[in-house]
Formats: sequence, C-alpha cells, structure tokens
Amino acid sequence: MIIRHPQIMHVFDQNATKFALLKTRLSEINDIESAAALLHWDQATYMPVRGATARGRQLATLKQISHEKFIDPAIGELLEDLRPWEANLPYDDPAASLIRVTRKDYDRAVRVSSEFMAKLSRHQANCYEAWVKAKAENNFAIVQPYLEKTLELSQEYSEFFPGNQHIADPLISLSDDGMTVAQLRPLFAEFRQELVPIVDAIASQPIADDICLHQDFPEHQQLEFCRTIIERIGYDFTRGRQDKTLHPFMINFSIDDARITTRVYENNLTQALFSTIHEMGHALYEMGNSPDFEGTPLAGGISSGVHESQSRLWENLVGHSRGFWECFYPQLQGVFLRQLSQVSIHKFYRAINKVARSLIRTDADEVTYNLHVMIRFELELDLLEGKISVRDLPEAWNESYRRDLHLIPPNDSIGVMQDVHWYVGTIGGMFQGYAIGNLMSAQFYEAALKFDPEIPVEIEQGNFNLLHNWLKENIYQHGRKYTATEIMERVTGSPLSIQPFIRYIRQKYGDFYSLRNEN
Ligand code: ZN
Repeated sequence: MIIRHPQIMHVFDQNATKFALLKTRLSEINDIESAAALLHWDQATYMPVRGATARGRQLATLKQISHEKFIDPAIGELLEDLRPWEANLPYDDPAASLIRVTRKDYDRAVRVSSEFMAKLSRHQANCYEAWVKAKAENNFAIVQPYLEKTLELSQEYSEFFPGNQHIADPLISLSDDGMTVAQLRPLFAEFRQELVPIVDAIASQPIADDICLHQDFPEHQQLEFCRTIIERIGYDFTRGRQDKTLHPFMINFSIDDARITTRVYENNLTQALFSTIHEMGHALYEMGNSPDFEGTPLAGGISSGVHESQSRLWENLVGHSRGFWECFYPQLQGVFLRQLSQVSIHKFYRAINKVARSLIRTDADEVTYNLHVMIRFELELDLLEGKISVRDLPEAWNESYRRDLHLIPPNDSIGVMQDVHWYVGTIGGMFQGYAIGNLMSAQFYEAALKFDPEIPVEIEQGNFNLLHNWLKENIYQHGRKYTATEIMERVTGSPLSIQPFIRYIRQKYGDFYSLRNEN
C-alpha cells in the first residue's frame, strides 16, 4: 500500500484537474477547426459555384472563433500553471508533450496581433484575386503592387519574433518549425551542387519515350484502379474516401476520417495515379497517429517537410519503383488492355520515370523537381533581404531558370506567376518543405530498408505491411510529439542529409543513364 503525503496528493489532483481542463478546451477548439475543415473540403469538391461567397464568410467566422478561443489568456494561465508538473515528467510523456507542443503553438499565436492577422488575411484575399487576373492576362504588372505589399507584410510578420538570426526564420518556422536559413542555405547549396551535374548528365542522353502514358484512359477505369492500389497498400476506406477536385489534397477531420482527393486527365495516366498515391501517403500518416492524440494539438504531422516526406516516400520511392510495378503492371494492363497490352513493363517503367528539364514545378520529375524548389527558396531570401525588388522578380526568376534548368519561360504566367503560394501566402517559408520532404523521404526509406531488407521483396509481392508497420511504429504514431530534427535523429540516427537522396537517384537512374561520378 502506498501512502501519499496529503499535500502532494492535493497538488497532484490540482494538476490533473488543470490538465483535464486544458484538454477539454483544446478539444473544443479542434472541433471548430474540424468543422471548418469539412466546409473547406466541401468547397473544393461538391459545393455549387455560387455558394462561394457565403462559404468564405462561414469559414472566416469559424476561423475567428477558434483563434479567439485559443489565444484566451485562460489557456496561457493553464499552460503556465502546468509548467512545474510538465518539468517533472519525461520529455516524451504524452501529457508533457501535449503541454510543450500547445505552449509552442500558443506562444506563436499570441505574439502576432489579431489586427495584423486580419490585415494580412484581407490582403491575401485581394492579392489572390489580382494574381488570377494577372496570370490569365499574362501581365505581372497587375499583381506587382499587391506582391510588394505581401513582401512588406511578410517582413512585418517577422518583426513579431525579434532575436531571429534571419528575417525568413519565423516564416519558415510556420510550416517547418525549427528549420532556419542558417541550416537550409548550406544544405540546399550542397544539394544543388550535387544535383545539377546529374541533371546535366541525364539531359545529354536520349530522353525516355512516354507516349504510352498519353493515350485514352477512361476516367472511371482510372479511378477504380487507383482505389484498388491504395486499398492494397493500406488505405482504409472505412476511415476515409476519395473524391475529385481541381488541385489534389488530403484533409482530415479526425484520426478516423482522413480524406483524399484527385483529378483525372483521360489523356494522361500518371496524373490521377500518382496524385492518389501521394495524397494517400499524407492520409496514412494522419490515420496512423496514436488514437490517444485525438482532438489535441499532438495529432497531425510534425511539419510540412515531414508530411511531404511521407507522401513522397509512397509516391516516388515505392510507387515509381520497379518492384511495385512488377506486382501491379499486369493488373494495370488487364484494365487497359487495348492501350497497354503491347507496352512492356520496361517501357512503362522508363516512361513513368522520364527525366526532363521543364518549366513547371508541379509537372517536374523527382530528379529535377528539387531545383524548382531551391530556385524559389533563394528568391524568397533575396526579396526579404532586399537584394532584389518585386519589380525585378520576373527577370530574376527567368535568370534562375536559365542557370539551373537551361530554359527561359516564354511568359510570366508559366514563369514567376505559375505557383499560387506567394500570391495567397507570404514571401518566405512557402517552398522549403517540398525539398526537405524529398530529402527526408530517401533518408527514412534507407533507414527502413536497413531495419528490414525484405521490404522491397514484399513490395514486389504486393505486400506493404512491413513498410507500413515500420512507418507507423517509427513516425506516424508519434504525431507532433517530436520535432522534425528529433524524429530524424531518432529514426535514422543522423541529422538531415542530402546523401541518401543522392544515393537513391544515382542508383535508380544509373540503370538507365551513364552518370559520371563527379567526385
Ligand atoms: Zn503533398
């Protein structure tokens, strides 16, 4: 029998009560956010066009309510009162982790004034409208003054977080918490230096023929096949669904309701197929969170980089692998007999892994893709540092493309205005997650194969449990408990590095191309 000191018991009870109260408050906020997310999902899938105005208002109202509930000083007091209790718990204890992660979110949310956030969000809506018009008319001048204002507001946002090494750090932290310019700039410089010669070597050799992917592939057959594949991998349709949209995304309203969307091009087999596997990767991550995290800030993915690593791992390292298609290609041929019966698996595999310099990030292959991202990251820093002005941005953009991809966009619509990010977000922090995600995906996958070299053999048999379970165990279940840096070290034993990705690319594409080792 354990007899506790009555006073200690009392303190314990007080802490437990306060912690329970905090969880209740957070769960209510999460409910409001999930309701908003559902409205957003509906807007992007089934809502009739003319519902847009009311929907925008409804979303803004819910967003405001959840924000106000979260920045309530009562939450700050609870977090403060719970500090000594948290300090006595192990770092990775679920309660300590919840308090720590909530405090980080809270500190960030209260630092920036509500007036500023309202001003920023009004401006973003206007800037988006100007971008739509400017892009359609291929006239950057229309959106230029708006983007100048975005730059100003992005700099102003940073000022709420004094003491940062670089003005972009608070903006990067919004999506990739803990990552800094000091860390990313040398990492990306090294990445670019390794990648450019590989792209040059590939581009100097005959380009893969992907005509087999551009035939007539009826939509319902594509969707049916996508469904078969992701169900086989482990996507649970009792905890999610797939619908059509304009720009594919994953969204979740709880750990047991993680939905994905796709778009189908009947003249391009890869669009629906790989966007489905990509979004499934995001969904598996959310669905694999510990059920104890439901309704709390611990549920979800750590950062945009880690989230992207999970979608890219399934989409590229698995979904674009030879072994994967050893299993699924006969089935695909069965569905599209007329189109693919004469196309060998080798030809198909080469086609889906075609590498070519191109102008559009979202269409880029896995080798050249990262160059697109790093160009944007550099330009963001140049703008924030005042090295270039918004007026000079189109020219700086074109010059970067000429330098890294040997192509110059014929117009600004498919040049500097191709991505929506800057025009609806901030300048800074918008793109690094994509490249970080690619690097992490290779590093995580290498660790998984080291743990169990049978994984690729199983994949060839159409069995994904080994890999899926490894990811659940090592990454998914932890939700936001660890930072990106912590999870990387825990899972792979090393800090984030470009080497696993470079090894992966060299090995895979070395089978088709002669890649001189530059070292
Ligand atoms: Zn993604």
